[in-house]
Amino acid sequence: MDPFASIADLAEGLRTRTFSSRELTQAYLDRIQRLDGQLNSFITVTAEQALAQAEAADAQLANGSAGPLTGIPIAHKDLFCTQGVRTSCGSRMLDNFVAPYDATVVERLQQAGMVMLGKTNMDEYAMGSSCENSYYGAASNPWNPDRVPGGSSGGAAAAVAAGLAPIATGTDTGGSIRQPAAFCGISGLKPTYGRVSRYGMVAFASSLDQGGPMGRTVEDLSLVLGAMAGFDHRDSTSTEQSAAELDALRSVRIGLAPERLKVGLPTEYFQALTDAGLATLLDEARRALEGRGVQFVEVSLPHTAAAVPCYYVLASAEASTNLSRYDGVRYGYRCENPKDLNDLYQRSRSEAFGAEVKRRILTGTYALSVGYYEAYYRKAQQVRRLIRDDFVKAFESVDMLLAPTCPNAAFGKGQLVSDPVAMYQQDIFTIPASLAGVPALALPCGFSEQLPMGLQLIGPHFSEQRLLGLGQIYQTETDWHRRHPQLGE
Ligand code: GLN
Repeated sequence: MDPFASIADLAEGLRTRTFSSRELTQAYLDRIQRLDGQLNSFITVTAEQALAQAEAADAQLANGSAGPLTGIPIAHKDLFCTQGVRTSCGSRMLDNFVAPYDATVVERLQQAGMVMLGKTNMDEYAMGSSCENSYYGAASNPWNPDRVPGGSSGGAAAAVAAGLAPIATGTDTGGSIRQPAAFCGISGLKPTYGRVSRYGMVAFASSLDQGGPMGRTVEDLSLVLGAMAGFDHRDSTSTEQSAAELDALRSVRIGLAPERLKVGLPTEYFQALTDAGLATLLDEARRALEGRGVQFVEVSLPHTAAAVPCYYVLASAEASTNLSRYDGVRYGYRCENPKDLNDLYQRSRSEAFGAEVKRRILTGTYALSVGYYEAYYRKAQQVRRLIRDDFVKAFESVDMLLAPTCPNAAFGKGQLVSDPVAMYQQDIFTIPASLAGVPALALPCGFSEQLPMGLQLIGPHFSEQRLLGLGQIYQTETDWHRRHPQLGE
């Protein structure tokens, strides 16, 4: 059993009885136990529950009621609520929090027969680009343990890259699926805002948060996206999607004629790209796709430079209101022996939130306060509109965009912790699509100094099928997605 196999291949192995789901699940649990000491990619491992789910899946496989995902193990980012299993969100605040219900994503994937291996490490409240802001300690990049795996879904990316899980869920507010996928050499999709229900996802910035799959191949992402997505009456921002549309998401292999595709290269992104190694790799990717008949043209997204400051105003403003619910009263951390109610609020929040979360709450509250609201929050909303309009206009002349995912390869642990603005700049190429609400796919596109690099395909709202289709074509032309790190066994 190859721990680096795609879930499409693992499903074939289950269907042909080459191995059972129990054996497969046990194999991943063994690897987690043996190797995760090097990575810290899991916060919680749910071995017993996983084996029980695997046995149920084996029964379904035996009686013919199995679906395409039945019996396949998956790891969930630790901000998806899981009934009976701690959901920490990487924070001391929720260290003792056991959700009384499942997130819609968790519920749907479980109904599809997937087996939950555990909950993955992340930056606290998904705020960060390095996984160093976790209350449970930093996670490591499996390609080089001195490097970060990216963030905030860094544990998910490290686990998949290291073969500790064949696929994982992540969430992306400003890049948290795509950037760690790029840093760890795996594939990751941020769906269109509204594609996947946010019910049961611990909220960071509600107008931006979106769950999505992180895996080895584009085909795997499409299989899992098809099961995660769809309207949910418990999330008013989720979108109605027909069964035919969801089915189409699962079948990336068919229906795309690359010679009719026109792909835009955003001038502003390539101007901002200073990493020569990555520029060369993107050039090679473009040529690989040109070989399949895809046409490329330059396009302009004029407001790109405003995206990072705009995001850090809006996301922090939303975070400051979302996180006001953690008051030490209803659930989560409560300080010892409070003197009075104010002391309870103050100390509970001061003791349980980490430095980055506090920074966002403070800047977000500032941006929303009387006298500053107009200058910051409202201005940022207006800029967001301009950024969104840039994409809408670009997609009048091209089908999608090809861009870098990150400005550089995985940086060193500790390298950016004392410089939050430099850390925020890591998100320059991922944040614009988040602000616009459009889908974006990160794919491994080669190596620079032994570290994986990622490209990004960005499409119009609800164009996932086409994005995944072109991604699939790219992965038939290249084998970067088949490379995997060697861990000291
Ligand atoms: N790095 C960005 C931030 O810190 C994005 C995080 C995310 O997408 N959750 O806000």
